[in-house]
Order: sequence, then C-alpha cells, then structure tokens
Amino acid sequence: MLLHLSTWQEVEAYLQQSQGIILPIGSTEQHGPTGLIGTDAICAEAIARGVGEATQAIVGPTINVGMALHHTAFPGTISLRPSTLILLVKDYVTCLAKAGFTKFFFINGHGGNIATLKAAFSETYAHLEDLQIPNAQRVQCQVGNWFMCGSVYKLAKELYGDQEGSHATPSEVAVTQYVYPEAIKQAPLSKEVGTGHRIYGAADFQKKYPDGRMGSNPALATPEHGQQFYELAVKELSSGYLEFLNAH
Ligand SMILES: [Zn+2]
Repeated sequence: MLLHLSTWQEVEAYLQQSQGIILPIGSTEQHGPTGLIGTDAICAEAIARGVGEATQAIVGPTINVGMALHHTAFPGTISLRPSTLILLVKDYVTCLAKAGFTKFFFINGHGGNIATLKAAFSETYAHLEDLQIPNAQRVQCQVGNWFMCGSVYKLAKELYGDQEGSHATPSEVAVTQYVYPEAIKQAPLSKEVGTGHRIYGAADFQKKYPDGRMGSNPALATPEHGQQFYELAVKELSSGYLEFLNAH
C-alpha cells in the first residue's frame, strides 16, 4: 500500500490494523560514469515497495534527496545539509505520529545518510515529548540499510570480490539496471580507481575520486544480478521490519 495512492480514509482504516510505516530514503548524487544520479533513491524505493508488499505495510513518499555534500563537485548532485535533513525527518515523523503512526522504518540507500538519520531520530523523540502528543512515548524509528544486509553483502563478495568497492558499486548499479533496464549506461571506465581515502569536502573528494567511483567496478553489474540483490534485500528487510513492528 502506497501512501500517495491512498485516501485519508484508507490510511485511517490501515491505522486500525497497524501503526507501522516504511519510508524509503535515498540520495540524488553522482554515481560515476555509468551510475545513475538517482541510484540510491531508486534502490531504496524499489526495495521499500517490495517490503511493503511482502508485509502489508504502508510505504510513504521516497525522500529522494539526502546528505551528499561531498559529491556536490559533480554536476547533477543535490544535497541537503545534515541540519536540513534532520528538520525534514522530524517534520515527516511528527505529522505521521500525530495521525497515530508509532513505528517508522526507514529503508535507506545511502551510507552518507546514516549519521544524520540517527541524529534526526534523537531530535524527533525529544521534540515529540515536548509536544506531549498522545503517542510520543511509543514512537520508534529505525534505519534498515539494504546494502548492509548480510545476504546482499555475501552475494556482492561472491560476484565481485574487492571490485564491489564502496561507491558506485556494481551491486547498486545492478539494482538500478533491474528496475530501469531502459536506462542502462555504457561508458569507458579507467582501470585505475581511487580507493581508501578519507572523506572531507567536495573539492577534495573530486580530487581523490576523479570519476566519482570509490574502488568499484560497476561494469560487472547486470540486471540479473540486480534482481538477485533486490530479492535478497526485500526478504531480509521484511523480516527486519516485522521484528521491529512486533518488538516493544
Ligand atoms: Zn549509492
């Protein structure tokens, strides 16, 4: 069930059965010469919808823009500052908590969002307690990173070894190829790829990772691999969501 394709009466009826909601969150950022700018949002949205179907959960609107400041030297990247993303998450959760939702499961497609999401959860709990809305004490937020699922990690190792890298990875590119086969890109990739550098500002990032990849070889990606990753992530995050939903 998708929130934006539901009516308020349907949401009201859903809340009689469940107080859980899944929120996909991604990023709009460069993913190397062959990866789509929307990769992280595309993966999070597709997997979140799969989990929603498997668990009968409502899925909220995808948060397409995340915290990607270090990618902003590459054209097309859009980033929120961490402080903006905290406010956005707090506003989303506050509105939904007022309606009666208490369990917020963020399915995340971007490693750079994790620290800010956790900070946002703390800000949100404090804010809801100050507001004294009836459900405040019961509101819980959790982040499920599809790319960190044990089964996904294992398959990526088997298929790509250390060519998986950590950004513009063949596994995430494969998922976008499965979801949008019409947007598969071809481009020459140099054998040399930046790897192992710490992340500081955007100009520094571009100097150390000139084509945007971080240790990865996305030429190994195929739509068939993408389907495998998709299915593994949906399975693992579905159990993660149900466990979260049923825990006190
Ligand atoms: Zn990514």
